[in-house]
Amino acid sequence: MRKKVVIPGEELAIAEEYAASENTFEENERIYASVLGRAEYDKAKHEISVLAEKTAKPFTEGCKVIAQVLAVRKSRVLVKLIEARLGPEKRILTQFFATLFISNVDERFIKDLNEEFKVGDFIIAEVESIKPYGVYLRTNKPSLGVIKAYCSVCRAPLYLTNQKLMCKRCGSVEKRKLSAEYILKV
Ligand SMILES: [Zn+2]
Repeated sequence: MRKKVVIPGEELAIAEEYAASENTFEENERIYASVLGRAEYDKAKHEISVLAEKTAKPFTEGCKVIAQVLAVRKSRVLVKLIEARLGPEKRILTQFFATLFISNVDERFIKDLNEEFKVGDFIIAEVESIKPYGVYLRTNKPSLGVIKAYCSVCRAPLYLTNQKLMCKRCGSVEKRKLSAEYILKV
């Protein structure tokens, strides 16, 4: 028996191999989870059930997320979500990719997103909305933005000194949309 966390609507198996049991449903010869919880595959009985997770809640609008930048485009940044919290409470991610539009980056005017974020940077952001086809973030508060950045020349982590990001290895000075919670300070 193996267990994994599943979300409502997640496909668990094809109906030929397993029968739907507790907290699951069958549709078009496939079995899906109907609640958030842990899927249990009983290989001997060929049954799947989901043990409902009562304490774990999915992430929502207003949650703070830690994410890593995957791509920087002209008008948006694409990130991979790593963890979510609402206040001190940890929330379960039900989607793993999100979009940050240029208009939600900061209060000031942003000319070029490439001067604010780089691929590989870690950011803290707030969830603005969760739609079936995507998660949208904002960083337009002083506490939000990049919390750990890497040198675009040599990839070493950048340190914050006098409001400037500096590479200790090659001396490069860089700019980002920084969070007040930037991790590496000198
Ligand atoms: Zn460097």
